[in-house]
Amino acid sequence: MTINGIGVSPGITIGKASLLKKQEAALSGVVLANDADITIEIEKFNNAVALSVQDVETMINSYDQSQGKEGLEILETHIELLTDPQISEDVTEKISKEKKNANDAVIEVIADAVQLFTNMEDEYLSTRAADVQDIGDRLLRNLNSSIPDTTTTYEADTIIIAEDLTPSDTISMDTTHVAGFVTQVGGRTSHAAIIARSRGVPAIVGCGITLTEIKDGDLLILDGQSGAIIINPDQNTIDQYRIKQDNWQAQNNLLRSLKDTPATTTDGINIKLFANIGDANDMEQAIGFGAEGSGLLRTELLFMGRDALPDEEEQFEFYKAVALKAKGKPVIVRTLDIGGDKQLPYFNFPAEQNPFLGYRAIRICLDRPDIFIVQLKAILRASTFGRLKIMFPMISNIQEVRAAKVILQQAKDELSKAGITFDKNIPVGIMIEIPSAAITADLLAKEVDFFSIGTNDLCQYTLAVDRMNEQIKELYDPYNPGVLRLIAYVIDQGHKNNVEVGMCGELASDPKATLLLLGMGLTEFSMSAAAIPEIKNIIIHSDLTKAKQIHSHIMEMDSSTAITAYLQEITL
Ligand code: PEP
Ligand code: MG
Repeated sequence: MTINGIGVSPGITIGKASLLKKQEAALSGVVLANDADITIEIEKFNNAVALSVQDVETMINSYDQSQGKEGLEILETHIELLTDPQISEDVTEKISKEKKNANDAVIEVIADAVQLFTNMEDEYLSTRAADVQDIGDRLLRNLNSSIPDTTTTYEADTIIIAEDLTPSDTISMDTTHVAGFVTQVGGRTSHAAIIARSRGVPAIVGCGITLTEIKDGDLLILDGQSGAIIINPDQNTIDQYRIKQDNWQAQNNLLRSLKDTPATTTDGINIKLFANIGDANDMEQAIGFGAEGSGLLRTELLFMGRDALPDEEEQFEFYKAVALKAKGKPVIVRTLDIGGDKQLPYFNFPAEQNPFLGYRAIRICLDRPDIFIVQLKAILRASTFGRLKIMFPMISNIQEVRAAKVILQQAKDELSKAGITFDKNIPVGIMIEIPSAAITADLLAKEVDFFSIGTNDLCQYTLAVDRMNEQIKELYDPYNPGVLRLIAYVIDQGHKNNVEVGMCGELASDPKATLLLLGMGLTEFSMSAAAIPEIKNIIIHSDLTKAKQIHSHIMEMDSSTAITAYLQEITL
């Protein structure tokens, strides 16, 4: 039998189910008789707080840093919650005014606080209810020493099955023996998910009531990617999954071993590997894959799948969240790139013969400065929370760059006038994804701080091949010598004119292209986070002198067939 939940930490595991039963503290209904009792109960509560803080401090001191920083951050939040004056005030008031004992006061105050967090609309905040419940459980354990802690040592290959897992359950658990987690509730941002990911333990959350199908000791196969749980599988299925497990493990080992390795060539050239992201969650995940920042935040994703434009405040919060998750690493925020295949239900796009050649991206923004300036102000405001850069998409001529910069200046002036701070030297760049921009890279370089080559569009416009058209997909070929020459020219002109050059199109993540791009002099690659380890592995085994020779050799070839065959042959 197979049941399904949300796969939140990838990996395949085969093991025995162990059902985690929680021992809950119950309300006693005791009514305190006099002031002396009140004083005793308040003292008991203060004592429990002190003991709980001590517990968490001990966990912090013995925390194994190799398990990732996330667990440590959660424990620090617990110290803040335990010493939160509001919780202490509410409990003391229930004891002194409502004459409840410390046990009942804590249960009620924590239940209210959990409810408050659960009702919050923000998914991240609402899952923080688990932290409040967790410190509540700890306080109760320290108040009533008869309620035992849940920390247990498990047999090898145990899969923990629980209604929910508190953050400290997950942190204090001896994961050397725990091979996976499955919970009834929770989502991607729940702590069980975060901790499981940082420890590399497969996890599935949000299984709902189907979880009751699993009995203690059942043999389970967990696929942390797809979210499938196979209960008591037959031998054939087990054998199949063992092979999957080995493959995944081999790939994961490579990924894990390279995370903190700098992407440096064998002759010592540092290459920056960035991630293309859609939001703050992606940024967090990307860092886990070793990304040194983001070379492309596709802001249009915030504008899609809704029924009205996001206002400045909502955009500010969105960009700020990304900046914070990047933790000081650079993030290139691309301004609105709608039109073409990216339609908005609430925006009146004109009917067009050729939408990809039509009213798109910067063209819309320059036509609608009212929309554009809101986005620019939001990005500028968020720039004080990290290292943001602004990038304009679909630039085809220098006037567009200048016009966009005029609106950016206007946004800065309005913020200055309102006394709002922002990064006054925020770098400004453009995407090079239209052939006219590529060919005039030397001229455009005078106007900006950086270029990012968008090979997805550069390829479609250079070759006159609609990137969405299945029928002509064979013609959509970034290895066409025409496309490669444009790319090489942009990199060369950028560097000659002291402009940083990166690439955020799909070609940056194609292992076949890595050596060639290195040979062209590209030093910044941005791609989907999961592709980073493989590209890094190629870079750290590459020699730049050899890459340059490969580039020269390829530039003499006359067809993509010859080029790709040659690249295939020389790639690791
Ligand atoms: C590109 O065109 O290469 C690019 C990265 O932008 P998008 O795919 O969003 O058009
Ligand atoms: Mg593009």
